[in-house]
Amino acid sequence: MSSPLPGGPALPQERRLVTAIPGPKSQELHARKLGAVAAGVGTTLPVYITRAGGGVVEDVDGNSLIDFGSGIAVTNVGNAAELVVEKASAQLAAFTHTCFMVTPYEGYVAVAEALNELTPGDHEKRTALFNSGAEAVENAVKIARHYTKRTAVVVFDHGYHGRTNLTMGMTAKNMPYKEGFGPFAPEVYRVPVAYPYRWLTGPENAADEAAAAAIDIINKQIGAHNVAAIVIEPIQGEGGFIEPAKGFLPKIVEFARENGIVFVADEIQTGFCRTGQWFACEDEGIVPDLITTAKGIAGGLPLAAVTGRAEIMDAVHGGGLGGTYGGNPVACAAAIGSIETMKQLDLNAKAQAIGETMLTRLRAMQEKFDTIGDVRGRGAMIAIELVKPGTKEPDPQTTAAVAAACHQQGLLVLTAGTYGNVLRFLPPLVIPQELLNEGLDILESAFAGL
Ligand SMILES: *Cc1c(COP(=O)(O)O)cnc(C)c1O
Repeated sequence: MSSPLPGGPALPQERRLVTAIPGPKSQELHARKLGAVAAGVGTTLPVYITRAGGGVVEDVDGNSLIDFGSGIAVTNVGNAAELVVEKASAQLAAFTHTCFMVTPYEGYVAVAEALNELTPGDHEKRTALFNSGAEAVENAVKIARHYTKRTAVVVFDHGYHGRTNLTMGMTAKNMPYKEGFGPFAPEVYRVPVAYPYRWLTGPENAADEAAAAAIDIINKQIGAHNVAAIVIEPIQGEGGFIEPAKGFLPKIVEFARENGIVFVADEIQTGFCRTGQWFACEDEGIVPDLITTAKGIAGGLPLAAVTGRAEIMDAVHGGGLGGTYGGNPVACAAAIGSIETMKQLDLNAKAQAIGETMLTRLRAMQEKFDTIGDVRGRGAMIAIELVKPGTKEPDPQTTAAVAAACHQQGLLVLTAGTYGNVLRFLPPLVIPQELLNEGLDILESAFAGL
């Protein structure tokens, strides 16, 4: 079963448990971690990884776990994907850094060209590169403020945008992201999002009512003419894979257009084939003014971008944007390899197929297990929301128990959600079908064993 995969090194594509999870070597390393690494840096599952590729991660004890996390939607093309390794290695040997702001190089320009082409809309675009998602969001706000000469930023319930001061303020959830870390940047305002499962008057009313409520708050409490940017994830990630009810996003975009507000799509988690499209906005034909990307862009190397309308992006004076490492040449080479892999392997089609398998199986599980309140998502970005049976009361305890049971059986799953009651599934898009099915079998037994 050890065939070389375009999506990673020639690792046996199998689940293999040879110790308890975590095993003795992982436990030893974890003791070192606790003595050396700041306690605030948590880990979901303390198995220490030595190799990863395709649909598995291998640990120091020789266990091979099925990966339903992709390092949080990063290794869409697989871990150590062939072209990523090849291009990044060549770049590593040629030069590692000059600082694009000092003496530039082609890789940065090539990534900018690729993003300008791949992102929605056929208008003239420009791109600037950064290191992390949070940095991209910060820069989108900087650019929107500079362009509009306005200050207010509108974000949404359940939104997540990062851990820097501004992006913490833009993030909805207090624990663990914001607790004790304030004060936060001013001029950030939060409005409702059309969360179908939890919309009080029913999912069918969510789009209209949530958009009306959001617009009303903007008009009454902020003043539309004071708003520089509206920033939203087309599918909310950390918030629990909430797909805003159809029709909600277009209404918000229309409002932004009518009022000279820059509409920013934060596609950091949803981008790069994750949802079965290059970008999740495409499903409703939305063309954002600016789009932030990171996670899936470079096959695991740190890279982020803001891409958008040339007149907005170019409004900022020379030297106003940048950073020492932004658009590092090795990360850019990895991004070129990653994007090429997505095209070669048609990872949009792969993501759609993963979505079909997952949604079918999970909906069948929902019939059997009444703790599964909602099944949702698109492509390889799928989640289930767990509730107390017969109610919509969130059940974070059962969520944690199911995740722990999966981990014990060698399936890496992540939790999410404002109420901590969402299990989210983000397999690498190159995961073999048998491993996908096996992972879902493990999940099903975890529910059966509750
Ligand atoms: C992860 C994420 C961020 C922050 O990215 P970092 O690279 O962790 O700073 C911002 N927005 C969304 C939607 C994300 O999923």
